[in-house]
Amino acid sequence: MLHAQVVTRFAPSPTGELHLGNARTALFSWLLARHHGGRFVLRIEDTDAERSRPQFLTQLLADLEWLGLAWDAGPGVEADGVKYLQSQRDEIYRHYFATLTAAGQLYPCFCSPLELTLSRKAQLAAGRPPRYAGTCRNLAAADVDRKRDGGLEPTLRFRVPTGQSIEFVDLVHGEHRYASDDIGDFIVRRADGSPAFFFSNAVDDAAMGVTHVLRGDDHLTNTPRQLLLLDALGMPRPTYAHVSLLTGADGTPLSKRHGAASVRELRERGYLPLAVANHLFRLGHSSPETGVLLLDGLAKAFDVRHLGRAPARFELSQLDAWQRQVAHQMSTAEAEEWLGKSVPATVGDAERQRFVEVIRLNVVLPEEAARWAEVIYGAAPALGPELLALVQTAGREFFAAAAASVAQHGGELKPMVDAIRAAVGVKGAALWKPLRIALTGRADGPELGPLLSLMPRAAIEERLRRFAA
Ligand code: GLU
Repeated sequence: MLHAQVVTRFAPSPTGELHLGNARTALFSWLLARHHGGRFVLRIEDTDAERSRPQFLTQLLADLEWLGLAWDAGPGVEADGVKYLQSQRDEIYRHYFATLTAAGQLYPCFCSPLELTLSRKAQLAAGRPPRYAGTCRNLAAADVDRKRDGGLEPTLRFRVPTGQSIEFVDLVHGEHRYASDDIGDFIVRRADGSPAFFFSNAVDDAAMGVTHVLRGDDHLTNTPRQLLLLDALGMPRPTYAHVSLLTGADGTPLSKRHGAASVRELRERGYLPLAVANHLFRLGHSSPETGVLLLDGLAKAFDVRHLGRAPARFELSQLDAWQRQVAHQMSTAEAEEWLGKSVPATVGDAERQRFVEVIRLNVVLPEEAARWAEVIYGAAPALGPELLALVQTAGREFFAAAAASVAQHGGELKPMVDAIRAAVGVKGAALWKPLRIALTGRADGPELGPLLSLMPRAAIEERLRRFAA
């Protein structure tokens, strides 16, 4: 590694919920920093005042914390008075605008949106790639003053140097080369005085000492412009790694349709942060590590050279597999925290703990635990025609024997099973299936013995008796 200390960053715009694609970029950035014992910076790109919302920022911070991606600098961790919200960094941008203006590298542009659209259309019609035509590039000072006096507020454009080759090596996409002549002069400051993305994003990376920019590969083509700016300012270039897009399992943009698209949705459904991190870690990042790793383990195993270029696919079923593994490794206290709320409040502490112990290995999400709580503590489950037929085939004697055993021995499984065997001579599936269905309303689930140990005795007896008459 060339850099003395690796500094990475995540630079979200608080204009919506934290999408899983962005969460993956954040995770990779965090892992890269941790892998090298470096620093991870969180910068909030909220220059778009209309679309940025404080509640999205609050939620974003909570989502990152939930994932365990602590930042070494950023909102709430401001060393030396540095601000990490771009909306508070105007002074810094003004300084760099002034530097570029003094060097003659910016010029005011008065072209209206309509004029720009027409110019773009004309270029496209002529079969040329559209770019700024340079209309205001050489305006005389007197013309600039006249337009200003007329009340027009200009944008500021960067004067792209001619005849240059812009080259960089992307850690994912390899060598890239662009001709500056293909790049039109671009806006660095909007008419309202706010910095454009290209500018504030590049300047902040350099000003914050970021050495490695990991970001979505939709930004790959922005890089040459940002490098031109950094070069013009004499600021250091970071190393870039443009990470592939995250799609749904069917290859289309990830959305609710795929089960979940945001961190909030996963969190609210009871997915565990470590399961999410382990799944995201494997999406478009190949690793010989096949088991669940804690975040530190993921950091050790992360290798930026193992990031793929192809879009990665998010699969809820794979996340479920990780969730199952993480759930199995949880401590009793963690499992109670995760599932305890699924039990009705009327159930006592000791009972709730036993419930969690019995159920935890059989569920992926708290909503399933809640269904089991309903089976155990709720009314006798109604059976659909198929299950009802199965139970009825077992016969009344079967259930009369079972109910009699409960009356005598309580909800213990062994005497119940012995009594059924003695009465009707069945074993195997012919015994277990009808019994389980009558008691739980389902053909599958956790082991019956522990399940019955949770169920009130009267409820067990009632569920059996209804098929004995
Ligand atoms: N705010 C930009 C985004 O969310 C950041 C892009 C970048 O990481 O450079 O797309």
